[in-house]
Amino acid sequence: MTTRAQRYDAVVTRREQLSPHLVRLSLSVPGLESTGTLDEWVGLVAPGQFQVRYYTVRSLEGSDLVVDVVLHEVGLVTEWVSADCAGDALVVTGAQGSFSPPPNAEWLLLVGDLTAMPAMARICEATALPTRVWAEVPDDLSGYLPDGTDVTWLEPPAEGRSRLAEVVEGIDWPAGDGYFWMAGESAQMRAIRKHLMRVRRLPNAAYDVMGYWRAVTALQPRVVDPGPIWRAGKAAGKSDEQIWAEYDEARGG
Ligand SMILES: Cc1cc2nc3c(=O)[nH]c(=O)nc-3n(C[C@H](O)[C@H](O)[C@H](O)COP(=O)(O)OP(=O)(O)OC[C@H]3O[C@@H](n4cnc5c(N)ncnc54)[C@H](O)[C@@H]3O)c2cc1C
Repeated sequence: MTTRAQRYDAVVTRREQLSPHLVRLSLSVPGLESTGTLDEWVGLVAPGQFQVRYYTVRSLEGSDLVVDVVLHEVGLVTEWVSADCAGDALVVTGAQGSFSPPPNAEWLLLVGDLTAMPAMARICEATALPTRVWAEVPDDLSGYLPDGTDVTWLEPPAEGRSRLAEVVEGIDWPAGDGYFWMAGESAQMRAIRKHLMRVRRLPNAAYDVMGYWRAVTALQPRVVDPGPIWRAGKAAGKSDEQIWAEYDEARGG
């Protein structure tokens, strides 16, 4: 199958349960190269699936890739990783990243939910800048960030929306120039971008706020079988790009 991004064959070499909601997968991915960007991510296509899901590179040494996967209620990757998947073959797409503090940054503020922990840990390990972290996580991850990290642990509300947007609005901002990085549920991230632009009036280069997942109610990818769309598209001479765009549209965008 030809594709939109560079793809690599991979094998799961180890599965380790780090906490009730977090599973570490070690993968062997010959050919995969790091971009060097601290929040870089790859796409995973779970065995037997077509859809890509994105995961942060927790580490990449040679062909040994480590990703930390959050288990939530339902989901393609969640279901695959919930069982023992060591030895499984999958596809990994090329790495990309966006963390880019300006050269004059004197400090970092990092905010995120459990899905952001791998990126925040990697950034904390690598940066020399004074860094503060706010992490909204359901598990005890006290050993996950490097020793001495200045972190505020926030418990996710039992029901309803994350409180991260509220937390960011209450941050006592450090003096001088710095860089704000945040990732989590998309609606929260939209609210934060507005706050940073309209209230804090930060220039674009001073922050990076990414929606890592969308709170939708259904398990979309199982609803539409890609097979017929793929075959019909191929028969009509369409490009892979067009076929997958049609598939995404059929799933509701
Ligand atoms: C750049 C980038 C980096 C990311 N890095 C990581 C990472 O390192 N580790 C990680 O675990 N995730 C990471 N994510 C988020 C991850 O891609 C999504 O959570 C993804 O939807 C999970 O796939 P799934 O197949 O398990 O669930 P899906 O099949 O995509 O979703 C099924 C259902 O679960 C809900 N859902 C999806 N994600 C979550 C969640 N996190 N919490 C609660 N409900 C959810 C959906 O709303 C939907 O209803 C990253 C995303 C991006 C864009």
